[in-house]
Amino acid sequence: NADQAMYAAKSQGRNNYHYFTPVMEMAAQKRRLLVNDLRIALAEQQFCLYYQPIIDFSDGSLHKVEALIRWNHPGHGLVSPKDFILAAEDTGMIVDIGNWVFSEAIQQVAKWKANGQSIQVSINTSPVQFRSDDCDQDNWFAQLAAMRLDGSSVAVEITEGLLMEASTQVRDKLLGFRDAGVEVSLDDFGTGYSSLSYLKQFDIDYLKIDQSFVRNLDPSSSDLALCEAIIVMAHKLGIKVIAEGVETEQQKQLLIEAGCDFGQGYLFSKPVPAARFEQLFNPTLVNE
Ligand code: C2E
Ligand code: MG
Ligand code: MG
Ligand code: MG
Repeated sequence: NADQAMYAAKSQGRNNYHYFTPVMEMAAQKRRLLVNDLRIALAEQQFCLYYQPIIDFSDGSLHKVEALIRWNHPGHGLVSPKDFILAAEDTGMIVDIGNWVFSEAIQQVAKWKANGQSIQVSINTSPVQFRSDDCDQDNWFAQLAAMRLDGSSVAVEITEGLLMEASTQVRDKLLGFRDAGVEVSLDDFGTGYSSLSYLKQFDIDYLKIDQSFVRNLDPSSSDLALCEAIIVMAHKLGIKVIAEGVETEQQKQLLIEAGCDFGQGYLFSKPVPAARFEQLFNPTLVNE
């Protein structure tokens, strides 16, 4: 093991090995195992998507569904994206994983459509995908066309950091999505550093208020003031608002009173496998 750690340290650069403390060796070793397992996971189809409803506050109906990746690890069981997305981004593997997520999600949407249920699926994306030429947007659009799906069957969730980058590559891809009718949602709003001017510049369709602002919502909280301000600002820019992490009836009521358009959270449903989602949300109308 010590030999292996030393080998890896040296392989990163001839003079780097002496910076490795035992704790760092452990972390590096764990990371290597993870990366190796991720390669296997892609090859052996160990990933799956869970689906979480996003509810229209105006009538309680299903508005769209967010696809959330899970890793069915043969030894560790179901692994959360929080435990592998960063490593997948660092190694660039997120590009292949993201391509898999897209294909899988639209195949599911096509199945639902064939069963008479038109649902938009919202997929999470990483900035790494936007920077990579291996994330081929035309290929994505060709897949949609091959399944006779409109661009509007899909929304892409991006992070605030991506808007800050504003490279031509990022800009072109965002415009490409817009031209194809794919909607764009700004995820985890309020946790990054977005300059408000980016919201206008990039024609965002939805803004998702991060769950950290929703968690402690009560009538006298400053979080409520923040949510109200975000909603007013978004609406003035023609952007619709989704609240994440809605867990209680009170949070829902306060958000509705604040003018929030849509909600997502355990109050409605946890993310569930496709089969379970169908049991819960077909027909499309959700009973309040
Ligand atoms: P996110 O996109 O902000 O997704 C929302 C997260 O909040 C999900 O965690 C969901 O399970 C959780 N959540 C939903 N409702 C509630 C609630 O009422 N209370 C609480 N406490 N949590 C709630 P999950 O599935 O573990 O995903 C974590 C993050 O991993 C996602 O955050 C997203 O950033 C990333 N992720 C998931 N799937 C993908 C993917 O396919 N590609 C990429 N690049 N990232 C992904
Ligand atoms: Mg998301
Ligand atoms: Mg989020
Ligand atoms: Mg728009």
